[in-house]
This record gives sequence, structure tokens and C-alpha cells, in this order.
Amino acid sequence: MSSPNAPPTPEEIHAAPKVLLHDHLDGGLRASTVVELAARIGHELPVRGVDELAAWFQAQGWSGSLERYLEPFSHTIAVMQTADALERVAAECAEDLRADGVVHAEVRFAPELHVAQGLSLDEVVGAVVRGFASVQGMSVGTLVTAMRHAARSVEVAELALRWRDRGVVGFDIAGAEAGYPPTRHLDAFQLLQRDSAHFTIHAGEAFGLPSIWEALHWCNADRLGHGVRIVDDIAVDPSTGEATLGRLAAFVRDTRVPLELCPTSNVQTGAAASIAEHPVGLLRRLRFRVTVNTDNRLMSGVTLSSELTACTAAFGWTWEDLRRLTLNATKSAFLPFDQRVRLMNDVVKPWFAERAGAA
Ligand SMILES: [Zn+2]
Repeated sequence: MSSPNAPPTPEEIHAAPKVLLHDHLDGGLRASTVVELAARIGHELPVRGVDELAAWFQAQGWSGSLERYLEPFSHTIAVMQTADALERVAAECAEDLRADGVVHAEVRFAPELHVAQGLSLDEVVGAVVRGFASVQGMSVGTLVTAMRHAARSVEVAELALRWRDRGVVGFDIAGAEAGYPPTRHLDAFQLLQRDSAHFTIHAGEAFGLPSIWEALHWCNADRLGHGVRIVDDIAVDPSTGEATLGRLAAFVRDTRVPLELCPTSNVQTGAAASIAEHPVGLLRRLRFRVTVNTDNRLMSGVTLSSELTACTAAFGWTWEDLRRLTLNATKSAFLPFDQRVRLMNDVVKPWFAERAGAA
């Protein structure tokens, strides 16, 4: 092994135990599976061939237009309308994450988008939970998402509660932020809070501080999906590099609000100009509770290892950075406390300690 001070290599990052908190099931399918499932149901895809389709998904992702970014999901969601298809996609998702060295993942999807062929919301969740549970050697918690432009969030929150001891670990809202503030779904969040359940909110991806403020202070989100615009409340002196935090940024750091940052996804949608200019570097330096995530592996052409590798190259992250980031994600998981402690003490810390010792 390389010396303790040598920068982590892509192979070493791949081998490290990793925890992933923000990954969309309908954004992480294998292109080969999309082709197979589409053929089975007669769904027409924009291009023929597995490699061509994979390239098409990524090209849409890099198109710079939100409309084109969202189009691929109409195809992945179209092929995920039966219990068998959902179970298969979930199992393959878990296999792919395990192969990337992920030891615990929380994967989200919106059940309301999978009922076009007559499945009930419970049947949809049941199929996905079965798929995740079929893969050994790692754990996958399900997050059920409600679409923020729709009006089913209370129903989906009730669904999360019905499944909370059977694989569902939390709730989320996703979709266009502008015009659909988190408080629109206050009933759902209050229902979850009254039942002591966990939730995260997609906030501060494109829309900025008001969205983060509502998510935290009106809705009491446990974590922020993205939350990257919290940098708008941080002033950095260009000559000294010294940072001054506004009230909201200070609150987020003081109370250790987990930020589910997704660098490549943000570059694709224009929320950041490049990985090197992505605020994840600054937020990590200022010791926010940063976690690094994949968002949509198929559309972004990424894995958690590749995201960590790209950030390591851009920001000069060391093993200590990677250890901290992994501990941040472990601490922020919606797992019961004893399971988080086990993951931390039996898996993450020993691996990093052994690496340091063996180097
Ligand atoms: Zn997301």
C-alpha cells in the first residue's frame, strides 16, 4: 500500500467501505435492463442498443436543459410498472452499489410514479423492498418520495409509516423546487414528526436559501437533499480565504444538518460550473456535515467511487477527508442508533485504521 500521506487512488477509494444517502432508483438502472424490459412491454426507446442507450442517457444529462435532463426518467419509469420489474431493478441497484464498495445505501423513489398499470402504492413499495432485501453483504434502506408538484404527499407519508419496520427508513419530497416550496407539504411532514419518523427534503439545489430555510424551520427536515445553495449564506474573503457564515449557514453547521451533496448532478443541471468549483470543497473545509452522493448514476455516468475520486482530485482530499465523509454519512443514515454505531465501529473505522496502519 502507498504511504499514509499519498493521495487516495481510484482503486483504493473503490475498495473503501462507503455509505450512500442520496440515490434515485429510477436514475440508476442498468442500460441493458432498460433495453430488456422495454422490449418485453413494447416500450419504444429513443435509440437502439445498450451502449447507444447508455450514451443517450448521459447526453441528456449533459444537455444543460432541465427539460432534457428529465426526459430520460420517462423511459426508466415506463419500464418500472410491474412488481417483477421493480423487484429486479431494486435488486440490481443493490448489486451495483455493493460492487462499488457501498456498505449501506438509502435509495429513494416515488411510488406514485409506478401505478400506471394498476399496482397499488403498497404493492410498489413491497416489490422494491423485496428487491433490496434479496442482496446480501450490505444494507439498503428505502426512502419513499412524494412529488412536490403533486398532491399525494400525505398519502405517501402514510405509506412510509406503514412500511417503516419493513424496509422503509424515511420520506422525501422531490421535483421542481421553484413554485413548489416545502411548506406546501407541511401536513405530510407534521404527520411524520408526530410519529417520530425521519425525512429529508430536496431543498437548495437550484432554488436557494428560502427553500432551505423552509425545509429546516417550518418542516424540520432531518437532512437536506443537496442543500448546496447554503453557500449563498457564506462570504469568503478572496485574499485570505476566511469565511463568514450568515445565520442560516451557521445554524446548518452548528446543528450538524447533513448535506446530501451530489457534485456531478449539480454540474449537469448548472447548479455548479465544474467539480472544482463545486461548493462541496468549501463546505468540507468549513466542516459542515458533508456527504457525497450519486443522485442519478445512469444519467450522470457515475458511481460513488467515481464521485469521491473526482472530488479527491479537485480538492486534494486526503484519507482523513474520506474517513470523515464516510463517518458523516454513517452518522446521518436513517438507521437506528445501534446499527449506525455497529457500522461505524465494526466496518468503517477498522477499515480506515487498518489502512493507516498497513500503509
Ligand atoms: Zn435527488
